[in-house]
Amino acid sequence: MHLSIITCLPKLLESPFSDSILKRAIAKGLVSVEIIDLRPYSTDKHKSIDDYAFGGGAGMVMMIEPIDRCLSDLKSKREYDEVIYMSPDGEIFSQSIANELSLKRNLILLCGHYKGIDERVREYLITREISIGDYVLSGGELASAVVADSIIRLIPGVLNDETSALSDSFQDGLVAPPVYTRPAEYKGWIVPEVLLSGHSANIEKWKQEKAEERTQKRRPNLLK
Ligand code: SAH
Repeated sequence: MHLSIITCLPKLLESPFSDSILKRAIAKGLVSVEIIDLRPYSTDKHKSIDDYAFGGGAGMVMMIEPIDRCLSDLKSKREYDEVIYMSPDGEIFSQSIANELSLKRNLILLCGHYKGIDERVREYLITREISIGDYVLSGGELASAVVADSIIRLIPGVLNDETSALSDSFQDGLVAPPVYTRPAEYKGWIVPEVLLSGHSANIEKWKQEKAEERTQKRRPNLLK
């Protein structure tokens, strides 16, 4: 998979991909992530990428031309499955969208800033809009890192234990059961005995029951 993330603040996206699981996925060649600085695609001498909104109102708007030039440049090098704009009013991101996107080959994530982007970009140049929730961030960078992380960890080979993404919350319509590690007793707080029993059928049964119990309590909507 190849991910191209377009941003006017490339520095904001350095660290999410330079540690732990995502770093390893890139090092193993399972995914390549390209952070593209929008500014060089500006056409004026001040390298501006935003301007005042027509009709007035507070906040700057990202201009269509640098974005169009950047997208054309990227599309001349690869065929992209989706051009996704990160937007607070987009489709709410979920595990099922992550699953779907993890099967794609090439994706563009476009990060907005300021007041957002010229509406014509949304109308003519992108294929999909994703929101990470009903709240407003100052830019699309953190949102695109969230989306990228959740997609990349699903690519086969990225997680060490191949089954571990499948046993995460939401994959089977349930949230995950509780997990424990050593010590078996801490300040008198004990780990459920069944987990120490070594009896795998009982352990599986316990995990399933706990997952169902938790889902009922915390995310009853998943059971409908
Ligand atoms: N004026 C816009 C908000 C702009 S926020 C409005 O009221 O809808 C600036 C940028 O941050 C957006 O262009 C978008 O790319 C990003 N952003 C903000 N909140 C987001 C969210 N919940 N999910 C995804 N991207 C978001």
